[in-house]
Amino acid sequence: MIEATLSQISEAIGGQLVGDDLLVSRVYTDSRDVCDKGLFVALKGPNFDAHNFLAKVKEQGGEAAVVEQRSAVDISQIIVKDTRIALGQIAKFNRSRLKAKFAAITGSNGKTTVKEMLASILQNVGETYATQGNFNNEIGAPLTLLQMNESHEFGVIELGANHAGEIDYTASITQPDVAVINNVAGAHLEGFGDLQGVARAKGEIYTQLNADGVAIVNNDDDFAAYWAPRIKQKMIKYSMKGDGDLLAKNISLDENLKPSFDLDYMGKSQRVNLSLAGEHNVNNALSAAGCALALGVSLENIAIGLSQAPHVTGRLMIEELDNGCRLIDDTYNANLDSMRAAINVLASYSGRRILVVGDMAELGEYGRQSHEEIGQIANQAKLDALYSCGVLTQFSHSRFDGEGKHFTNQNELIKQLKQEANANTTILCKGSRSAHMERVIQALMDDS
Ligand code: ATP
Ligand code: UDP
Ligand code: MG
Repeated sequence: MIEATLSQISEAIGGQLVGDDLLVSRVYTDSRDVCDKGLFVALKGPNFDAHNFLAKVKEQGGEAAVVEQRSAVDISQIIVKDTRIALGQIAKFNRSRLKAKFAAITGSNGKTTVKEMLASILQNVGETYATQGNFNNEIGAPLTLLQMNESHEFGVIELGANHAGEIDYTASITQPDVAVINNVAGAHLEGFGDLQGVARAKGEIYTQLNADGVAIVNNDDDFAAYWAPRIKQKMIKYSMKGDGDLLAKNISLDENLKPSFDLDYMGKSQRVNLSLAGEHNVNNALSAAGCALALGVSLENIAIGLSQAPHVTGRLMIEELDNGCRLIDDTYNANLDSMRAAINVLASYSGRRILVVGDMAELGEYGRQSHEEIGQIANQAKLDALYSCGVLTQFSHSRFDGEGKHFTNQNELIKQLKQEANANTTILCKGSRSAHMERVIQALMDDS
């Protein structure tokens, strides 16, 4: 955070300052952190009310806190009605003082991947701060903005949502100069109702875009025609299948399934070699490239950055065991579209191809149908075997025509896979975060 006095902050957030006016340069929310010149924001969570930790804050050397009720602990306090909202307001205050240009990224699939790709491009151009891990919600996004200071030239901010209004809130704090919706898919349907609800909620990112900002639109998405007429700002439309301002043409995959393509924009063309496997990453690359172009980066620098983008743990990482068996680790998360993308990658391998699926969460009434569709997609892809583990995945199992087994216990599944892992086999492992399918990958790797 750019250094500020407590009175400046208190005024910006409509609070009441009690105690000494100090200079602070960090905001933190966990009393266990030791934080020099820090301002502790006491949040109430599902497990704890951090107001109970103010003595601990003082013991650790903390001198200032934002609270909802005045505490007897002798530290400076800014008293507010709601500390969660105050966190957002402090972030917005910091944002308003930053010179950095901001790109905000949302979508159902690939936000973190696009964020890493864009950060990889921008960090060759100027000092860049990007969302760490998956800090993309109403708490994570403000905390991200609070990590930034006057040295930064670019901010790359991932915004996630599982209910309407969330992106409106986080994007209003981010005040992006560039905004992109990577795609819309049936993720978090429980909170949104239907796909149109997802599209509407993601669309909030464009309404919060700065008036002189640029909207990046995925022209291949079914909802492009819904968003485009509602966007008042300049637009860059991208496509890997049809028309647009920014195109990926002549796409080819190398033997490791890493795509190459011509990136075409305004009469210029640049060959791009991606560091990440899978054709869906062309879409992600276009999304990142669109943001970078809007921020003034050349096609050449975009190509360099995209070729250097790092792997993100659990997102389509392709590993090889000592016995030659290939493991596709896509265990980070799952919904139907990311499942389809991953199955396409598995299907492109020769030899025996085994799909290992754990439950996809937060689908509400669509749970059964979505899991049945996995079985159908696996049929179309002509996979050799489908092993399912969990509750809802029994519906994937029941729809799959090939060889299959349903497990209620991960250890049994792991035992089966260990017997089958050999040089002629490729195993794709995927499920929602809550399914913890990474444990299956870990067990196979540990044995290798
Ligand atoms: P989260 O909502 O959990 O933050 P995210 O939107 O940040 O997810 P990533 O973490 O980048 O997305 O990827 C999540 C999953 O989606 C991975 O399994 C990845 O392989 C897959 N995926 C990434 N990009 C796409 C895409 N463009 N289309 C379909 N699936 C994708
Ligand atoms: N917290 C804290 N000290 C502790 C435990 C929790 O300051 O020893 C904070 C924590 O960082 C969070 C708040 O208390 O800001 C609420 O914690 P909870 O676990 O309920 O929610 P979450 O961390 O999931 O937001
Ligand atoms: Mg993410």
